[in-house]
This record gives sequence, structure tokens and C-alpha cells, in this order.
Amino acid sequence: MKRVALLGATGSIGRQALEIIDAHRELELVAAASGSQGIDGLAPLTQVGGDLTELLERAGPDVVLNAVVGFAGLPATLWALERGVDLALANKESLVAGGNLAIPARKTGGGRILPVDSEHSAAFQLLENRAPETVDSLVLTASGGPFRGRSRADLGNVTPREALEHPTWNMGPKITVDSATLMNKGLELIEAHFLFDLPYDRIEVVIHPTSVVHALVRFRDGAALAHVGYPDMRVPISFALTYPERAGTPIPALDFGSGLILEFSAPDEYAFPCLALARAAGEAGGTAPCVLNAANEVAVAAFLDDRLPFLAIPDVVERTLAQIDCPPASSLEELVEMDAEARRVASTLTRAVVT
Ligand code: NAD
Ligand code: MG
Repeated sequence: MKRVALLGATGSIGRQALEIIDAHRELELVAAASGSQGIDGLAPLTQVGGDLTELLERAGPDVVLNAVVGFAGLPATLWALERGVDLALANKESLVAGGNLAIPARKTGGGRILPVDSEHSAAFQLLENRAPETVDSLVLTASGGPFRGRSRADLGNVTPREALEHPTWNMGPKITVDSATLMNKGLELIEAHFLFDLPYDRIEVVIHPTSVVHALVRFRDGAALAHVGYPDMRVPISFALTYPERAGTPIPALDFGSGLILEFSAPDEYAFPCLALARAAGEAGGTAPCVLNAANEVAVAAFLDDRLPFLAIPDVVERTLAQIDCPPASSLEELVEMDAEARRVASTLTRAVVT
């Protein structure tokens, strides 16, 4: 039996995880948490909001599925890693903001990070048991979101409703907007850097509209391996929760006869500046990724609330990064302070934008 704690149980990932857990006798849901929606009776132990590490302490799970959205997921990520408890990680923001604490904690705690993000689950599978010197580079694919192919001039008036219409994935609102700005791929670039210990110049992002290829790894001999499958998050969720057994799922095997289109192109970094902003913040290191993430959370919330135009999201992020020194943080408390400072600056900048 694997005792699972599910954080973010009411969200898009959380609901699909419940389906996977229900289908497997060897997965036992011992605790569940949500941000604000009631979840009484969903698991023996439940919690709504508050400090999720208290729930984890009481539950003593074998695996934590962190499917909280945003920086709020960081304490739970560190809790699992420090104790050597397996971490099935959907909450990429915790690794973006806290990678410098999380990766050393994984080492001292001796636990595993089993990525749930589809590209990282794919990369994990492609890189497992490879000698690092044989790996040339990692390629992360991006669908391009609902605004793929638009020029910057065509993005001025897009509405939250349009941004929420994702072509290939059905996800929570924050990550859907991140997919539309390409910040999602920027966050994933930083996530991959920490997860796989690869320098940024060896991680590439390509646009791949059908989301059938989730990631590729190029090796030093000129060969590349790709991870392919229909875009369905139940596959990486199941992989993480049943690792290393790779249990079956209800997702059909790929049907090549019906025609699969594998098309790739370079991202338009002028129309979608968030990708380059994330790459620069990752390369700058220190708490720059934490500040990037916080500013993005503020800007996306304002956009969803009709208080900020779409193209101002990267502006707010860029200007927040320009206003704050981002020295490394050596504790969760310092990161929480940095996150709060970045939110204050980003909120002020957001209010100054006239919509
Ligand atoms: P969502 O908005 O659908 O759900 C978020 C969940 O987090 C909800 O259960 C909410 O109640 C909970 N939550 C929010 N704030 C909380 C807090 N302070 N304390 C406790 N719980 C809180 O989001 P989602 O689409 O399920 O995404 C969750 C995470 O997974 C995000 O980090 C996202 O980037 C990542 N992810 C999602 C997908 C996807 O397909 N949805 C794919 C890859 C990665
Ligand atoms: Mg992803």
C-alpha cells in the first residue's frame, strides 16, 4: 500500500489524481487539502487552507502529491523532501521559487521528486539511468497556447476569456494564462534546470501545436529520443503515483493510422517575452526566479480580474525584476519575505497601469 496525501484536491490535477487513486487498490488516500473549497469526507484527514505541513505531519504519507497552485505549495514541497518522503510534484512554482532549497533538501532527505508536469515526467523517463556525459540537451515542447501565431500587435486586446481557451490541455486558470503568455514554459525551463541539473543553455523550448511529443533528449552521438502520447495528465499523474510500476491507465495507445502531426518551430520571443524573462531570471539565479514567479502570480491574477492588459503581464514581471535585488535565500523564511516583497512591488506596478 502507498499512503497518498493529495494537496490541491479540488483542482484540475487534484480531480484527475482522485480518479487514478480510486482505480488502484494499492493507493490509499490518507489526507487531502484544498485552498478554500470544503472537502469534508474526501479523505480520513482533510484541511482547507492554512499551513499544509500540519496536515502532512498528522498524516505521515508515503507520497505527497503537491497539486496546489502557486508559491503556496512551497512549504509542502520542502516538508516532503526534507523527510525523504516521495514528492509527486505538479506544483512547479515551488521548484521555480525554491529550487535552491529544494534540491539540497532532496539530497539530504534522500527522497525522490517524481515530476507530474507532463514535459518533466517525459524528461524523467528519457533521462532515467543515463550517464550524464551522454546527454547533450533537453527539449521541452510547448503547444503555443491559444494565441500561437499571433503577432504582438494582435495581442493588445485579448481578454481573459480568450486566454482561457487552451487548444490541447484543460487546466486551472492560472496555468492556462501562463500557457497563453508562454510563462508556463519559462517556469518549466527553470523547473527542468533544477530537476535534471542541466545548465540553461542545454535546455531548449520548441513550439509543437498538437502536444503529442512531451519532451525530447538529444544525446552526444547525434541520436534523440522523444516521449510521445496523447495529451492527458492522467498519464504523468499515474506514472508518478505508481512509480516504478507504471500501472495501466484508461488512456488509449497512440493510433498512428489516424494521422499524427508532429510539427515543430521556434517560439516567437518578441510576441511572448515571458519565456526570455524566465530564462534570464533562471540564469541570474539567486532569488530572481522567486521574484519572477511572484510578479507573474500578481500580474496573472490582475489580468484574470480585468485589471491588467495581457501584454502588461510581461511588463510587470520585467519591471519588478528590475526594481529588486535578488540575492540567494538560505531559508524558507527568507524566500517568503522575498516573495512578499516582489508581490508588493508587482501590485504597485499593476495599479499604475491604466486599463
Ligand atoms: P487549479 O487552479 O485547478 O487547482 C489548484 C488547487 O490548489 C485547488 O485545489 C485549490 O483549492 C488549491 N489551492 C490553491 N491555493 C491553495 C493554498 N494556499 N493552500 C492549499 N491549497 C490551495 O490548478 P491546476 O491546474 O490543478 O494546477 C495545479 C498545479 O499543477 C499548478 O502548479 C500547475 O502549474 C501544475 N500543473 C497543472 C497542470 C494541469 O493540467 N492542470 C499540468 C501541469 C502542471
Ligand atoms: Mg507542462
